[in-house]
Amino acid sequence: MSDFPYADRFTVNRTLPEQGRPREEVLAELREMAQAEDPTWETGKVSGTMYCGDHEHYGFLDEAFGLFAHVNVLQRDICPSATKFEGEVIAMALDLMHADAVTDGDPAGMVTTGGTGSIIHALLAYREHAAKHRGVTRPNFIKPETGHPAFDKGCHLFGIELRKAPIDPQTAQADIDWVANNIDENTIAIMGSACNYGYGTVDPIPELGQLAAERGVGLHVDACLGGFVLPFANELGYDVPLFDFRVPGVTSISADNHKYGYALKGASTLLFRDKSYRNAQYFFLPDWTGGKYMSPGIEGSRSGGLIAAAWASMVQLGREGYLRYAKAILETASAMQDAVRSHPELTIIGSPTFCFSFRSEEFDIYHVADAMKPKGWRFNGQQYPNAIHMAVTRPQTQPGVVAAFAADLAEAVEYAKAQTAAGQTPVSAAVYGGVPGGMTAEAAQFIEGFMEHILDTQQSLPPL
Ligand SMILES: *Cc1c(COP(=O)(O)O)cnc(C)c1O
Repeated sequence: MSDFPYADRFTVNRTLPEQGRPREEVLAELREMAQAEDPTWETGKVSGTMYCGDHEHYGFLDEAFGLFAHVNVLQRDICPSATKFEGEVIAMALDLMHADAVTDGDPAGMVTTGGTGSIIHALLAYREHAAKHRGVTRPNFIKPETGHPAFDKGCHLFGIELRKAPIDPQTAQADIDWVANNIDENTIAIMGSACNYGYGTVDPIPELGQLAAERGVGLHVDACLGGFVLPFANELGYDVPLFDFRVPGVTSISADNHKYGYALKGASTLLFRDKSYRNAQYFFLPDWTGGKYMSPGIEGSRSGGLIAAAWASMVQLGREGYLRYAKAILETASAMQDAVRSHPELTIIGSPTFCFSFRSEEFDIYHVADAMKPKGWRFNGQQYPNAIHMAVTRPQTQPGVVAAFAADLAEAVEYAKAQTAAGQTPVSAAVYGGVPGGMTAEAAQFIEGFMEHILDTQQSLPPL
């Protein structure tokens, strides 16, 4: 019996079906799979991933998407609506990030396909901008260790040297002195997170901004995660440092519509303090036999549906809606963090916001993950130090989830103590834990093999 998904119920398609199948039959098959999978996260026990978690909202977005899903936004002459959606999504996001405070630039933006898309477009823009205005030919970029891997990916793609600043183990914030000492004439930009994914902490953006401005380099603020939550945090009485365009020196910000913007997957906004950065990464080919070609970024054709849905989410929820959701998320995150703090064996890393991470000095924290997994909890495992991570989203704000978390965590702590006393190593550590002593050549080779295995299993069919 194959463990290929749904091989027990549905045909495995190895070729195009000779005759097409009735639409109703295809939809019934899709519905069955979706209905089997939704209950895993509907419990509120899964970290991150389902940001809105509200099927009424998803239904509404699907309808908005469906009206424009087939439209290619590259062809504005036949879909002027895309200009309305894109222009307004950018304008609303610029407004949230206080672009009105900018006096030294002409703010602009672009809608991309996700956080990674926004980050790599920012890197491309900085590289091209620095090449054009400063003659930089061997670019480097600085990220704190906690910055998202999309920065590593973008630097890899665009031939940019990446320098990684250490973080303070207590606050989990970037070491500003290290950043200052490692900026040189080839540094195109530096970055800080608001907040980072791993620990939910906000880097000292005002200090980074001052440094960037003094040294004449860009500063990208990665608000992919926090962009649609943290603008409301201060208003709700939480102490979050400024991270938006009010901070001098901040030259770009990414904020993911497909996370806490509650849009469909495949939408993020990249904002620039000045148009010259956006313009640096346009692509234009005037002499192609197929005609003059231009695209605003890396993608060619893009679906109008995703932009329509991102827009629909913003105007349907409005300021009041985002504020209300942010309040529930921040309150839930605080209550969950209180549950963690009630155990002296557990330590929360830094001063987190709505996602947080905790570790233990007394036992391997993966024992806690092991104990909570059978109860439906799914955390992200971290390393250096081993820790487990929870990104609080709307499914966690349902009644009962915090209480279940507190109760299951208390049992898990007892389990971890008992396992440690018995000399047991946790199961989860095998997948998530750090390799002691760092990455060896053998470990790198193992990962290459492991990745091939993952790609093979995720992209190929079971043997006949
Ligand atoms: C999710 C995330 C990203 C990358 O976004 P994708 O949408 O997964 O491509 C970048 N930075 C932070 C802080 C994130 O949380």
